[in-house]
Amino acid sequence: MPAADSALKRLAEAYEKKEVKFLEAYFDCLRIPSVSSEPRYRDDMRECARWLVEHLSGAGFEARLWETGGHPVVFAESGPAEPSRPTVLIYNHYDVQPVDPVEAWETPPFEPTVRDGQVYARGAVDNKGQCLYVIQALKTLLDLDGRLPVKVKLCIDGEEESASPGLSKIVKDHGPELAADHLLLVDGGFASLESPSVGVGVRGIVSLRVEVVGSRGDLHSGTHGGVVYNPLHALVEILGRLRDEEGRITVPGFYDEVAALTEEERRQFDFHFNAARYEARFGARPVGGERAYGPRESGTIRPTLEINGLAGGYGGDGFKTVIPARARANLSCRLVPNQDPEVIGGLVADFIKLQAPEGVEVRVSINPGMGRAVRNRPDAAVVQAAAQAYQDVLGRPCGFRLGGGSIPIMPLLMEASGAKAVLMGLSLDQDNVHAPNEHFGLDRLKMGCLTLARTLELLAET
Ligand SMILES: [Zn+2]
Repeated sequence: MPAADSALKRLAEAYEKKEVKFLEAYFDCLRIPSVSSEPRYRDDMRECARWLVEHLSGAGFEARLWETGGHPVVFAESGPAEPSRPTVLIYNHYDVQPVDPVEAWETPPFEPTVRDGQVYARGAVDNKGQCLYVIQALKTLLDLDGRLPVKVKLCIDGEEESASPGLSKIVKDHGPELAADHLLLVDGGFASLESPSVGVGVRGIVSLRVEVVGSRGDLHSGTHGGVVYNPLHALVEILGRLRDEEGRITVPGFYDEVAALTEEERRQFDFHFNAARYEARFGARPVGGERAYGPRESGTIRPTLEINGLAGGYGGDGFKTVIPARARANLSCRLVPNQDPEVIGGLVADFIKLQAPEGVEVRVSINPGMGRAVRNRPDAAVVQAAAQAYQDVLGRPCGFRLGGGSIPIMPLLMEASGAKAVLMGLSLDQDNVHAPNEHFGLDRLKMGCLTLARTLELLAET
């Protein structure tokens, strides 16, 4: 039997022995309504954090809470490993998304229910399922060998669903505790079990709010039309100048720091894009990016500027002949490596303010909660170990993925820990993450446990 097979068999048998107990703990955790964004769940958030500290302490970890001013972070570390072994930092989160619309749930969101091999509950996947199979992987390894193959540190965020404001603030102060060789962020997934992949990059983000003010109050369009500068017209004129007909952002300096892919990097990623499948799935044609790039490139390695919302005047049924006093827009930019969110936010804000026509006032503010992009090398040891583990467990080749989304805490954790990072996880498109009837497969809880344990075994050899 090949080495990977016998290693997996050993892990699988150990998992099966403890599966019932594991599921009990997982369900206990799912019953705690840890919704970070709603103040009425404040006490439940703390209860969930304490539950994790207890659960981890019971497994032999030294676990504690880090206060953040918001919801606490759970931090835990394993006892000393052999000094020659690397340290692995693992990131998860215990907070969940709100459950509304609650009437769309077939069973109550905080009463975990199993149907057809799927566990239905808010947080079943994101991220309590993935967090608890990580812990179960550690317990499995401890049961088998009495100690872990590497030194492990766990950082379990309580505010991921709100862009991690607390952890972002304190992460630098905890540098020595977070120090690690490898960082696993176990909060992702891929489209299907047929084609697993691990994430090596995310885009950065900065968002802005634009307000155009024309008058003290709304004005009659008969009396004032042709006299005042309509703030909505000013706004759409300004926004129209942000992009040219080639799909390029026209803000001076916007692309100056963009890190281009080297030929070698280009070979390591798959930029193939199935336009027909995309169109069938989303009812939209993938033609909105820069003309010079394909949709996969435009959506991952190029920065963007998008209008997320516009408001002003009357947009309801019928009509109302009004010249609105003010008009607003929300914008966001996805960024790529070397672009500084603060700098780009400033460039966009300056450009917009410069476009203000006479007669209106244009105000631009940059929202807090920005984040830098990350692009790691697929040949980093941590990326290779994670990909090998998926390949061993799922029996299919594992690819490397550059994501279009943003995880602001990722570059901060990398910086604080000094570790190279990989994005792991087994959530699939059909899991209804963030939606009613979120669910996770019992089979994938096991796969997750095995993948994590296998990744740590492989990292021990690096
Ligand atoms: Zn998540």
